[in-house]
Amino acid sequence: MSVKARILAIDDNVGILSDYRKILAPQTSCKGLDELESELFGAPTKGVETLNVELFTATQGHEGVELFKKERVEQAFDAVFVDMRMPPGWDGLRTIREIWNIEPDQFVVLCSAYSDYSFAELREALGKTPNFLILNKPFSPEEILQIVSSILDRESDRVRAEKQMAADLRVAIRNRQLSTAFQPLVCLSTGRILGYETLCRWQVDGKVVAYPDQFVEVAERRGLICELGDFVAAEAVELAVRLLPGWTDRSFPLVTVNVSPSQLSHRFVAYLDKLTSDAGLPVAALGIEVTESGDILSDDGCIAIVDLIQASGYHVLLDDFGTGHSCLANIARVPFDTVKLDRSFCMSLPDCESSSLLLEAFGKLMRQLGKKSLVEGVETGEQEAIVRSFQYTVGQGYLYARPMSREAAIELFFADTTASFLNVA
Ligand code: C2E
Ligand code: CA
Ligand code: CA
Repeated sequence: MSVKARILAIDDNVGILSDYRKILAPQTSCKGLDELESELFGAPTKGVETLNVELFTATQGHEGVELFKKERVEQAFDAVFVDMRMPPGWDGLRTIREIWNIEPDQFVVLCSAYSDYSFAELREALGKTPNFLILNKPFSPEEILQIVSSILDRESDRVRAEKQMAADLRVAIRNRQLSTAFQPLVCLSTGRILGYETLCRWQVDGKVVAYPDQFVEVAERRGLICELGDFVAAEAVELAVRLLPGWTDRSFPLVTVNVSPSQLSHRFVAYLDKLTSDAGLPVAALGIEVTESGDILSDDGCIAIVDLIQASGYHVLLDDFGTGHSCLANIARVPFDTVKLDRSFCMSLPDCESSSLLLEAFGKLMRQLGKKSLVEGVETGEQEAIVRSFQYTVGQGYLYARPMSREAAIELFFADTTASFLNVA
């Protein structure tokens, strides 16, 4: 995926800004100008045409920071060049600090006339970071080109595509382009729908922009997961309130939400408390699915938050059990009410004997521990019969239904569905 590189240059000298443009983003090739340029800057540098740069400029620090704030929403900047002295406004140091407040990993080049500060003073003032270069003025076009092309080379296509996705996702969240779908969680002994899992969707005009497996990870890595998670939790509460009159099995939640380890904070718990109390929803009607990953288990802070969530009365589900870092000993470390067996176990039934043995033994263990057990990925009647015989509490999978809209979920929930899902009487 080829994405145009974005560079921001902030310098109070418009002549220098125009040099940046000539070097990085020459609009059209004009013979006369090219000749003049080679006279001024020497022979044309190889690779100018291949850089594919979109250049933004500002003549004052605060103006540059405003531009940075506004434009990065669409797409991140690959580098920002900042002049040291820009009277009467902010100097280069202040400007860079403001940029790093917004985007701590932003690559910045400080263009300083040698006399301003010593190299050591600048390093001291801005801290040690790999995302910072100092360029002495006057610089040559080759220096600028070399810096920009090495930044672009440093970033693989994958990283740039991810940055692009993060920028698009940021816009999608703000413009309310994300939506949610709900998949039934079915009681394996009665066939009734107990509740729904909330799954995030990113679609524009009915077309999938990206699947949650991709964009949730990007949101986690690029600092967007809290905004995404807040939106999904609000949607979940909205559905739960609609289902509340039909909440018969109060030991199981009406709606569950997936929560990434990086969302686990006191702020998030306070947010959930406010959502549920504003909506008049008993907290036990909301389930919080946490993946028992290395991230959670290696972080006592995370476990403390899960503890708090459970102690506050929410239903905690341990998601995707059996994948990644799962190990039986961990079950004792993370507090939970229900364990969700990863879909790979059920999906390998009936052919895989070891999956079958594991499911049976694990189901028994959960019963002995007094926990509920949910099997994901039930796709066939035969698989359902097997997990039912192992006395699993709840099933989820395409056999019952694919994720659906809120209105469809409400209709299905209140329809008389008793036993109609179960293939075994
Ligand atoms: P998950 O939490 O394990 O969610 C279940 C996934 O399995 C969903 O995929 C669902 O559509 C799919 N699934 C359900 N039944 C079956 C079945 O019978 N067969 C097969 N092959 N698949 C089945 P989806 O919606 O694509 O979500 C993928 C993952 O993305 C989720 O896995 C979850 O880890 C993550 N995710 C989705 N929404 C959110 C969210 O709002 N927040 C966070 N943090 N993660 C989310
Ligand atoms: Ca889940
Ligand atoms: Ca899962």
